[in-house]
Amino acid sequence: MSSERVNLLGLPREQLETFVAARLGAKPFRARQLMKWIYRRGAADFSAMTDLAQDFRAQLAEIAEITVPEIVTEQRSRDGTRKWMLRMDQVQGIETVYIPEPDRGTLCISSQVGCAMDCTFCSTAQQGFNRNLSAAEIVGQVWLARREIGDSGKITNVVFMGMGEPLANYRNVLPAMRIFLDDLGYDLSRRRVTLSTSGLVPQIYKLAEECNVALAVSLHAPNDELRSELVPINRKHPIAELLEACWHYIDQQNGRSITFEYVMLDGVNDRPEHAQQLARLLTGRPAKLNLIPFNPFPGTPYRRSAAAAIVKFRDILNDHGIIATIRKTRGDDIDAACGQLAGKVTDRTLVRLGTRLTNPSRTPAEIQ
Ligand code: SAH
Repeated sequence: MSSERVNLLGLPREQLETFVAARLGAKPFRARQLMKWIYRRGAADFSAMTDLAQDFRAQLAEIAEITVPEIVTEQRSRDGTRKWMLRMDQVQGIETVYIPEPDRGTLCISSQVGCAMDCTFCSTAQQGFNRNLSAAEIVGQVWLARREIGDSGKITNVVFMGMGEPLANYRNVLPAMRIFLDDLGYDLSRRRVTLSTSGLVPQIYKLAEECNVALAVSLHAPNDELRSELVPINRKHPIAELLEACWHYIDQQNGRSITFEYVMLDGVNDRPEHAQQLARLLTGRPAKLNLIPFNPFPGTPYRRSAAAAIVKFRDILNDHGIIATIRKTRGDDIDAACGQLAGKVTDRTLVRLGTRLTNPSRTPAEIQ
C-alpha cells in the first residue's frame, strides 16, 4: 500500500542513512547514491537507478516511494515568471513561483496550506489556515520546478516567501532546508536559501542554533502601534523583542545582515516620519531594507504607495546609511507577486490569529 511507504523526498541525509540501514541493512553510501538520483538527476523511479543492485531497488520499492505533489495548473507571466498550483489533497492547493532573472533563478515556495498569521495586507491570510506542509511537500516544490524548468533556467535561490509562515511549521521546514543546503541535495549556499518570517521570536532563537540560512523578517511598520495592527503576531512579540532575536541570529550565525521586508501601503506606513523612525531602529545594525510595493488583491482596502513616495522613503533610509532597495514586482499579471498567492484553502481555524490575540484565553499553544 502506497500510504505505508516512506516518501524519501523529505528525508535529510542522516535520516535517509538511518532508514536504509534500519530497514534494508544497507551501508550509508547507499543513501548518498539515492540522494544523487533524487535531487541531482530528478529521478522518481527506483528502477531508473541503474547503479543500485536490482534486488536493493526492488526491496526499496516495497517500502519507499518518491512522491511529488501534482501540478494542477501553470500560468506564465509576460515577464517570464511561472506559477504552479499544486494539489495537496482532494481540495487543497498551494502555489509555487519561479522568477527568472539574468543572473539567477529564484523559486518562491510555500510552507503551509494557507496561513494563520492574519496579516491584514496579505491575500494568503484571507484564505485562513488549513495545515502544515510535510517536508516532502516542501522539497517536492523544488523537485517539480526543476523538472518543469529543465534546461531553460536554473534554480539558484530558494525563498520561503510563498504561502504560509515557515517558522510556524518549523518541524518540517528544517529538514527541507537541510536538503536544500546538502551538497548531495540541491547544494545551495546558505546565503541563497532565505527564510522569511512575520516574527515568531522563539523559533528565531531555535533556528539560530540549528540551521544557517539567510533570514528575512517582515517588519512593515516602525512602531508597535502600527505593526500590531498590520501584523498581529506583534501583539505577542513586539518590535524590540523581535529585533533582539534578529541581532542574536546574526551573531550566532556569523551572518552578514537581516533583510527587513516593508510593504509600502499608501497613507498607512509610507510617510517620511515612518522612514525616520525606521532609521532610528536600524542605524548601525546589520540590517537591509527591502521595500515591497503593495500588490493588491480583490477585497483589500489598501492601495500601493505612489512610486515617488517609495523612492523618497528609500532615499531617507539611504541618507541615514541604511541600505534600502525597492523590490521589483514580478508576475503580477498572473497574481504571482508577493502576497497574491491564494492557492486553494479550506479554512479549518475558524478564528484567526488577530482575533485570538485580542482574546488571549483562546490563543492556541501552537502559536508562540
Ligand atoms: N509568512 C512569511 C512569508 C510570507 S510572504 C512572512 O510573513 O514573512 C513574503 C513577503 O510578502 C512578506 O514580507 C509579506 O509580508 C509580503 N506580502 C504579503 N502580502 C503582500 C502584498 N499584498 N503585497 C506585497 N507584499 C506582500
